[in-house]
Amino acid sequence: MHCPSCGSENPPTNATCSACHAPLVPPPPPPSAGRATAGSPVDDLLRDTEKAAKDLAAASARLSKRLAERASEAAKDPSTTAKKAVHKVAKELESVGQDIERLLKDL
Ligand SMILES: [Zn+2]
Repeated sequence: MHCPSCGSENPPTNATCSACHAPLVPPPPPPSAGRATAGSPVDDLLRDTEKAAKDLAAASARLSKRLAERASEAAKDPSTTAKKAVHKVAKELESVGQDIERLLKDL
């Protein structure tokens, strides 16, 4: 290998330069070694997965809030039958299902 100090060519077994006796250091490992660097496909995937998980958690929280609202409305309205209440809840579930489908499309 080349001596970093004087540039002389040395056999790879030499620990020091045969010309100037400077220590011969092995070349540094390539930058791709070790953990993935920022902006790699793995990082992108992790970020997308985290975002999707957050979006789904938010959608789920919205659903439970809306269902509670519908249940409370249904309890106040004397004309509400159990069948009507179930239909309202089913509509909410449908709209959340569409939200989730939209999120999956964005991935
Ligand atoms: Zn040297």
